Amino acid sequence: MIHDIIIIGGGPAGLTAGIYATRALMKTLLLEKIAPGGLVVTTEKVENYPGFAEGVNGYELMDQMIKQADKFGLNTVSEEVIKVRKEADGFHIETTSQEYQSLSIVISSGTIYRKLGVDKEHLFTGRGISFCATCDAPLFKGKKVAVVGGGDAAIEEALFLTKFVNKIYLVHRRDKLRASAILQERIKQHPKVEFIWNSKIAGVYGENKIEKVIIKNVVDNSERELGIDGIFVFIGFDPNTSFLKGFVDLDKEGYVITNSSMKTSCDGVFAAGDVRSDTLRQIITACGDGARAAISAQHFVESIRGMEYKS
Ligand code: NAP
Repeated sequence: MIHDIIIIGGGPAGLTAGIYATRALMKTLLLEKIAPGGLVVTTEKVENYPGFAEGVNGYELMDQMIKQADKFGLNTVSEEVIKVRKEADGFHIETTSQEYQSLSIVISSGTIYRKLGVDKEHLFTGRGISFCATCDAPLFKGKKVAVVGGGDAAIEEALFLTKFVNKIYLVHRRDKLRASAILQERIKQHPKVEFIWNSKIAGVYGENKIEKVIIKNVVDNSERELGIDGIFVFIGFDPNTSFLKGFVDLDKEGYVITNSSMKTSCDGVFAAGDVRSDTLRQIITACGDGARAAISAQHFVESIRGMEYKS
C-alpha cells in the first residue's frame, strides 16, 4: 500500500497534521515510537494554549487531540522509524519492524530530553534522576531535590514539585533565569526554593539511588557536596533527527531546515513543530506548523497525481 502522507511523530504538530490530512481525504499514516501525545503529556498544567481560560492538563489536551484525529480516521502505528530514503516510486520509511511507502512525508519527530552528561547518569535515571515532575513528584514527598535548568520547563516543573517536596535547590548555570517573567516571579518568592546560581551538577553518588551530588560553581570552579534524594533535569532538548542524516538538510544543532511552507530540502518532505530549525517551540506553534505541513503535503501529492488543487 502506498500512503499519500506518512507523518513521523505524534505530538501536537504530528496530530494536527493528521487531523488536516485526514480531513483532506489523504491516505495518511502516523508513525509514533511509543504512543501519540508527545512530551506535552508530562506537563501538569498548560496555561498559554488559547481556549482554556483556567489552563489545561497536558495529558488531557493531548488526549483530546488524539480523539479528534481518531474521529477523522487517522491510522496510527507504534513503531520507531530508523531510516528514510527516496526512490523512483516514492519514499520508503523503515521502522524497527517493517517498511512503509508514501508519496510525501511530514517529519514531526520533536525533541528528546538533554542529559546532564555526568558519569553514571544512565544508572541513576529512574533511581533519583527524573525528566518528568508530573510523573515522579509523588515519589519525593517530604524529600530534598535539585532542579536543574533556568527555562520555562524547569521553573514550571519546580513550582509543581513544591506541592510535594520539602526543599528544592534550583541549580542554574547562569545568574539569570531564561523563563518567562510570570514564572520567575512565582518561583523567586517561593519559601521552599533555594537558588544555586552559576553552577552545574558535576557528579552524582549513591548506593542504589541518589544520595548526594557535587555542585560545581562555573565562575570560580569551587565545588560543594549536597545531600539530596533526587534530581529533576530540565536543561532543554536535542532534536530527534538521527534517522534523517543525509536525507534532508539539518542545521548545526541537528534541527530540520524548512521554508515558511514547512518544505525541507527534499521535495515532498515537510517538517513541523519542535523538530524544525529556528522556530518558537510552543504547543500553539507546533499545531500551526502541523496544519501548514499537512496542506503543503496535500498540494504536493495532488500535484504529482496531476490533480488540480482547488482551495
Ligand atoms: P530552554 O528554554 O531551552 O531552557 C533550557 C535551560 O537549561 C536554560 O536555562 C539553559 O541555560 C539550561 N541549559 C541548557 N543546556 C544546559 C546544560 N548542558 N547544562 C546546564 N544547563 C543547561 O528549554 P525548556 O525550558 O525545556 O523549554 C523548551 C521550549 O518549550 C521553550 O521554547 C519554552 O519556552 C517552551 N516551554 C514553554 C512553557 C510555557 O510557556 N508554559 C513550558 C515549558 C516549555 P541558559 O539559560 O544559560 O541557556
